[in-house]
Amino acid sequence: MGVTITPPKERACELCGREERWDDEVEGWRIADDPGNVYCIHEWDINGSFVPLRE
Ligand SMILES: [Zn+2]
Repeated sequence: MGVTITPPKERACELCGREERWDDEVEGWRIADDPGNVYCIHEWDINGSFVPLRE
């Protein structure tokens, strides 16, 4: 029943190249490979502004 929302599992910053992967265990993003620029504001390549749902 209802709509199943499938959140993105990975994202990359279009500005500095940072790559992150969603980790279900910590319910947060983890650096997948390139940490990019720590001072970057990060412009993620996923559509819209995805906000993880918390119960
Ligand atoms: Zn960035």
